[in-house]
Amino acid sequence: MRQIAVIGLGRFGFSVVETLSQKGYEVLAIDKDEEKIDSVSDMATYAVQCDATDLKALTSVSIQNVDVVVVSIGEDIEASILIVMTLKELGIPQVFAKAVTPLHGRILVNLGVTEVIFPERDVAIRLAHRLITPQVKEYMQLSPGFSVEEISVPPRMIGKLLKESEISTIYGLDVIAIRKKIARVDKGIVKKEEVLNRNPSPDEILEKGDVLVIVGREEDLDRLSKLE
Ligand code: ATP
Repeated sequence: MRQIAVIGLGRFGFSVVETLSQKGYEVLAIDKDEEKIDSVSDMATYAVQCDATDLKALTSVSIQNVDVVVVSIGEDIEASILIVMTLKELGIPQVFAKAVTPLHGRILVNLGVTEVIFPERDVAIRLAHRLITPQVKEYMQLSPGFSVEEISVPPRMIGKLLKESEISTIYGLDVIAIRKKIARVDKGIVKKEEVLNRNPSPDEILEKGDVLVIVGREEDLDRLSKLE
């Protein structure tokens, strides 16, 4: 299992620690504020109070043996940069860092982080995409111009087989999964349950209410999601 550390336990860092620990991962949580350390003490495997700009403090908790570090410090940009530099010098394979301004983000990219995250901007972009096209249930950019989206099956494709839908041939998109609602009878009561059909067969029938998980170019995804 990958060893993960989170430095900076504001709302973002705290949620990363909480989710990882709920999923059963071992997490090393670091913050200079004792109260923040107390708040994660029953979730994180190790919770250490120290100033992470201090190389000695970081190596004393064996940060150099960790596979992934998430740096979640926004207010003190200088600290964020110093910590990322140190982590890169220590050869940490993957460093994810939160940025609060475009300049902060550019500096982090230049330092060679694996990925810069702008939490508010990223959530806002996803929301805007969903507002523009209500058929788009979820949106995640994989690289510029290329995304994975969850799109309600376009009305004109309802009842067709996946291979007849032309999603792949005309739109050049790949359907990687279909979320379907199926009815299940439990103690005489009909309950609707969601199932994820991964790698759907070309003979899968597209039904009303299905949500297609599709990968491809954003302009092709836009065309598909606007179909009636
Ligand atoms: P969010 O928006 O996620 O709540 P934020 O961007 O406001 O967070 P900050 O307030 O900048 O986050 O800091 C996040 C945490 O990082 C704080 O708990 C702070 O104590 C911690 N922190 C800041 N500098 C250091 C440092 N040098 N070493 C360790 N922890 C630090």
